[in-house]
Amino acid sequence: MSTETGCAHCKGADEDRLWADETCRVVLVHETGFEGWCRVIWHDHIRELSDLTPKQRDHVMAVVSAVETGLIAKLAPVKINIASLGTAAPHLHFHVIPRFVDDPAFPDPVWLPAKRTSSRKLPDGFAQSMAIHLQQQLK
Ligand SMILES: [Zn+2]
Repeated sequence: MSTETGCAHCKGADEDRLWADETCRVVLVHETGFEGWCRVIWHDHIRELSDLTPKQRDHVMAVVSAVETGLIAKLAPVKINIASLGTAAPHLHFHVIPRFVDDPAFPDPVWLPAKRTSSRKLPDGFAQSMAIHLQQQLK
């Protein structure tokens, strides 16, 4: 396994992990006001999507899609945002972010300054029900 010292995604410490297999994992990110934000992280320190084999690319996109369908089913967001940035931390990962009209940045990208505060909370049992959804979708 390829890792890089000092890379937070290689370390994977303090993650709220919902699902994992031998290639990648899904974590629930706790960003204030953006409840349900998930991250799909390739385990190896890979820089770009195009560094993966076609089969690996298909797999990681299936994982991203399974996260998306889970968020839609459980939270009914108005839109899902998917982003791969990692400019400062060049370790392949995807943000899968449910958006709501009352989220802090709506309708702007989540990384722009907040326009409002949000008191939105995840439904009880959300993490466990997402974990079950991912297990069922990614068998
Ligand atoms: Zn890394």
